Amino acid sequence: MTTYRIAAIPGDGIGGEVISAGVEVLDALARRDGSFSFTFDSFDWGGEYYKRNGRMMPENGRDLIRDHDAILFGSAGHPEIPDHITLWGLRLAICQPFDQYANVRPTRILPGITSPLRHVSGPELDWVIVRENSEGEYAGVGGRVHQGSPLEAATDVSMFTRLGVARIIRFAFRLAQSRPRRHLTVVTKSNAQRHAMVMWDEVAAEVAGEFPDVTWDKMLVDAMTVRMVMKPDSLDTIVATNLHADILSDLAAALAGSLGIAPTANLNPERDFPSMFEPIHGSAFDITGKGVANPVGTFWSSVMMLEHLGEADAAARLMAAIERVTGDPRCHTPDLGGTARTADVTAAVIAAINGAND
Ligand code: ATP
Repeated sequence: MTTYRIAAIPGDGIGGEVISAGVEVLDALARRDGSFSFTFDSFDWGGEYYKRNGRMMPENGRDLIRDHDAILFGSAGHPEIPDHITLWGLRLAICQPFDQYANVRPTRILPGITSPLRHVSGPELDWVIVRENSEGEYAGVGGRVHQGSPLEAATDVSMFTRLGVARIIRFAFRLAQSRPRRHLTVVTKSNAQRHAMVMWDEVAAEVAGEFPDVTWDKMLVDAMTVRMVMKPDSLDTIVATNLHADILSDLAAALAGSLGIAPTANLNPERDFPSMFEPIHGSAFDITGKGVANPVGTFWSSVMMLEHLGEADAAARLMAAIERVTGDPRCHTPDLGGTARTADVTAAVIAAINGAND
């Protein structure tokens, strides 16, 4: 039997609630399957850890998770700590050194979920957004001088390398090639940003030559928001920079019904380092501790983790269980207009896993 070692990092806010639901579901899935199991090592890193230790994770934190098969991450964000500290101190402190350069965000309207878009019910909206996850606007290049004085100046420099752009665009073309529509949309802002974004367009045209069976088009990010709302069925796979895709994927999650459903994979495609799987939502302190967090984003992220681990059958079984449960309005949490609690959804998904093939 294969045993997968998973580093669980619940983080802050509802992160703890959704990750423990995810662990329960993954254990149930392993029991049902019988050919693999999980060992979860839990790490209490995040805002509370910061308050005790002055840092979001220990100095040797990455060494502690370096040899795990995957990382299951909840959320980083704390009301008493500035967001740039929590983000750079934990999530980015893992993503960047582990070279998880491909951030993959599937968006679909699951059964039983209502999109805020009129006339859109299901197959018209089926996208995967690929976000460049290692450089660009979040490269961390910049600085501040004369802080607090009227002469203060600050810069955030977006930095793109040809290597970084080519590898994410190639990854996106490959992903598009594996999907039935075989269509990729490359998003930039190359009218106003006339250096790096023009390089993106050039690299996209070059890499496209390697994928004659994939059609592709280019969009400016502002026009892209309109197309996502007005013509969702014209899109399939989408690739964009770190910042642009960050924004577009929140829009995508909202159009698919709720931020609480959307999943993410932070992949190191070469598998030199563990990849990390997390719901797209943040800490949501407004509902923390109330037992009503929607765990579906974590369950769907777990599907992506299983696919990455090579457990395709278990991934498909979990996805089918999720879709069966979202199809039942009695299993909808308040973000979806229902009254179900995290524990109800978790129990229903486990019941669906156990009944899935019976
Ligand atoms: P952060 O600062 O960590 O990004 P946030 O609270 O500002 O977190 P999100 O958590 O991303 O932002 O979400 C915004 C709102 O959406 C939350 O305040 C919450 O009401 C709702 N929400 C997000 N995730 C969920 C979820 N899993 N279940 C239910 N509601 C959710």
